[in-house]
Amino acid sequence: MKTQQCVSCGTHNGMHHFEGRTLTVDYKQVARLVHDIVGWECQVCGEIEFDHDTDSAERYSDASDQLLENYFQVMAAEMKRIRRKLHLTQKDAVKLLSGAGHNAFSRYERGEIPPPQALFTLMCLLDRHPHLLAEIQAMNEGSDLKRLLAARFPEQETVLAS
Ligand SMILES: [Zn+2]
Repeated sequence: MKTQQCVSCGTHNGMHHFEGRTLTVDYKQVARLVHDIVGWECQVCGEIEFDHDTDSAERYSDASDQLLENYFQVMAAEMKRIRRKLHLTQKDAVKLLSGAGHNAFSRYERGEIPPPQALFTLMCLLDRHPHLLAEIQAMNEGSDLKRLLAARFPEQETVLAS
């Protein structure tokens, strides 16, 4: 059996050679399989090193990059599709739904950054129940919050900001 010293814990002959293994790359809730990996695994500490005489490291890293790229692309397309379905401009969407920087939606829709999980969940809910947008609009007007403030601090005069 081919063995070598472990690069991590230093055990002599600790690493055993393996071939044809399937590893996974993952991002958030999804993963992809990368087949036919050739490498070394330490029997003591579990460290795995790719066999650099093969393309295993490159294929593994490519799969990881591709998953990330595909994930961002799909999230971006969903954000755009749902926003358009709700008849919102990017500016309206920021104002109504995300409250982040003014160009936040444009960055999500270009796939520069993924939307925060809570925002994406909200968009998916609105996709399934678009009528809820009217309730969000009403909430954003602040009358519920004004009522709560006025009830809790009756001695103060709380009004809606104009
Ligand atoms: Zn080791």
